[in-house]
This record gives sequence, C-alpha cells and structure tokens, in this order.
Amino acid sequence: MALSHLRKLLNNPGPFADAYDPEEATKAIQTTKILVVGAGGLGCEILVNLACLGFESIDVVDMDTIDLTNLNRQFLFRKKDVGQPKAQIAAEAIQRRMPNCRVTPIVSKVQDIPMDQLYTYGLVICGLDSVEARRWVNATLVSMVDDDDPQSLKALIDGGCEGFRGQARVILPTITSCYECSLDMLPSKKTYPICTIANKPRLLEHCVEWAYVLQWQAEQGEKDPSSEQIPFNPELPEHMDWLVRTASERAKEFNIPGVITHSSAQGIVKNIIPSVASTNAIIAAACCTEAFKLVTGCNPILDNYMMYTGDQGVYTYSFSLEKQKDCPVCGIEAVLLPVCGNEPLSAVVNRLKEKYRLSNPSLSLTPNSSSTPTRPLYYAAPPSLEASTRSNLSISMRELCQQCRSLTVTDTQLPVSMKVVLRWE
Ligand SMILES: [Zn+2]
Repeated sequence: MALSHLRKLLNNPGPFADAYDPEEATKAIQTTKILVVGAGGLGCEILVNLACLGFESIDVVDMDTIDLTNLNRQFLFRKKDVGQPKAQIAAEAIQRRMPNCRVTPIVSKVQDIPMDQLYTYGLVICGLDSVEARRWVNATLVSMVDDDDPQSLKALIDGGCEGFRGQARVILPTITSCYECSLDMLPSKKTYPICTIANKPRLLEHCVEWAYVLQWQAEQGEKDPSSEQIPFNPELPEHMDWLVRTASERAKEFNIPGVITHSSAQGIVKNIIPSVASTNAIIAAACCTEAFKLVTGCNPILDNYMMYTGDQGVYTYSFSLEKQKDCPVCGIEAVLLPVCGNEPLSAVVNRLKEKYRLSNPSLSLTPNSSSTPTRPLYYAAPPSLEASTRSNLSISMRELCQQCRSLTVTDTQLPVSMKVVLRWE
C-alpha cells in the first residue's frame, strides 16, 4: 500500500483503539518482521496480501518444490518454475512486483529454524495443510513465552482450508486458547495434497490415494478409449482388489513399510477434499487483516476463532474458543490419565497416542521425590533404547509404576514434554 494510503487508514483508528499513535502504527507496519509458514495455496495469498498492506519485512519458510498441479491456485508460480523451491520463487515474485518489501526465503522445515531466529519475528502466520508443523509452531511459541520479557510473546495467526470451508484464528500464546486446545475439533480423516500423492508418497495413504485418484482413470483410458469409463466403486470387491494390489505395488516401489488392507484402503478413499482457490483467498484475507490490526493496534483483533463455510450457502461465525485447562501445551492443570493396575503399559501407550494424536511416544516415570532419578518405561527411539525397554510394554502398570503417580511423555509431534498424572481406577 502506498504510504499516503496507509496513513489515511491509520489516521482514522476504530472506536476501540486505545493509546493509539498513527505515526507509531505506520512505523510498526514498516519494521515488524513477519514469518510466513508455508508458501502453497494459502501462503501465496498471504504473501501478496501482506506486501499490499505495506509490510516490508517478511520471511517465508517452505521445504517443498513446485509441482505442475500447484499452478492453478498457487499463482506466484509459472510453468518454468516447476521443480524449484516454493519459498524462493514466491519471494522473488513478490520482490519483483513490490521492491519495497523484503521477502527472504527459507527453504527448509519450519522445525529447523533456530530459536534465536524465531525470537526476531514480531508475528507468525501459518498457511499450512500439515497438522504436524502447526502443532510444532504452536507449542514452540507457547514455550517461548517468558513473563519477564514482553518481546517473547509472539502472536500466531493460523489459517486453514478444507474444500469450501476454512478457519482463521488469532492465538496469543499462554493468553488465549492455543492450537493444541482444539485438536479434538479436527476431523479424524486426514487429507493429502495431490502433488504429494502424485510425486512424493511417504505414507501408505498416499499410495492408496494415488491408485484411486490418478491410476484408476489412467488405466481405464488405456483399455479402450472409445468406450465409456467405469467410475471406481469402493463397494465393489473387484475394484477394491485392484486398489489394494496397485497401492501395495506403489508402496513397495517407494520403500514405504506396512500393509494395505481392504478396510484401510476403503477408509482412505471415501473422503477426499480438494483445495479451492477462492477459499484460500478468503482465509488468507482474514489472516492478513488480523496481522494488520495486531501490528498497528488500529482496531480490535479477532477474539479468537473465525470459521467460514462456503458449501452450504455462505456462512461465517466468530467465537472465543476457551483454553483447555488440561491442554498439554498451554494448560495450567496436569493431564489426568485414568489407568487400571492390571492393564499393560502398551494399552496406556495406545490410549495416549489416540487421545493426544501422538505418533510414537516415549514414557518415563517421574519420581515422587527429587532424590530418586527418572526411570524409563518405554523409549520409542533410538533403536537400542527401544529394544531394551520393549519388554515393559507387556508388564502391568501396577507392577511398573508401584508408588509413582506421574509420567513424563515425549513425542516427535510435540516439542515440549507432557506431564501426565495417573489416576488409579
Ligand atoms: Zn492449549
């Protein structure tokens, strides 16, 4: 935005803006450093909006490269850019059009950004399709908060899209509810970007989606181009046989371990949500409007969750999502876990996995007094520790824990450890 336009806007603060100085607000827009996480469908929109709003210092992090299938909605990319890093091409595209805005690409996982660098940002905006990366950013920003250092509190604006639906939310770490607080609101079915399915499968699910979404059609076309194509029907055993066989072959080709069964494949194919460019645009606009208000203080910010639904007419609804007292990331109360004395450790591990969406948790006993050391119960990694603690999985909780009342749980999904208090049933 031209400076004169920016001034016009900022010289007319809303009725709820207090202790407001338009000069300072203008300076804040020009100097606040923003980290944009993700340079895909949402990320491209966010970058353009931020640059057009007058922000001048943006870092964008994305580890992915551009795929042909991205081009319909990730409009900063052209055909010649296919195969190039998204962050780099997106940064160059913005820079070309808006020379005032410095966009620095970071081609890596967000998890690899060092803490002291994270500290330099005034604000973080996530435009991701990965729950894992979001959980990491959220938990990291919550753990960074130091009560004696106001600079350590970094607001997080999180945008998310699923087909015709989306949400934007403002998270003030430790003050408002966090991403983890609402993890159980997530639909249990995961979705995958089509480019991952087509080119970089890492999970069995990716292979099933590939067979179902792309390969079925391709093989139908090969058989007899003149005859009408038969749509894939997950209820037909012969179709499912083909699916399991084709997906398993692909998994083998990409060295993905595990077994695909009829029922697991069926669960995957029944729910695929495409990415819709206009939903991205709406959610990105909401996120960037919040960024503008947060940085300038010209109007009150969203408190704290906006959901947009475009598949049943058009509907938006904002509400204040409350903090969960026992949230493993921002909660003030310990996580309570009911356990039976005679159940094996493996049952507890599985329950933790399911309830807190952990991938491979490690558990140790927290001693009742500080003089006794922490005792490992089960370590998921490295392999040597896994092997030496594996036998505990079949031992009963009563026998393993004896007098101890709490556990420390760590997992790759969470950068912080989780304190779990056992409630004996
Ligand atoms: Zn929380």
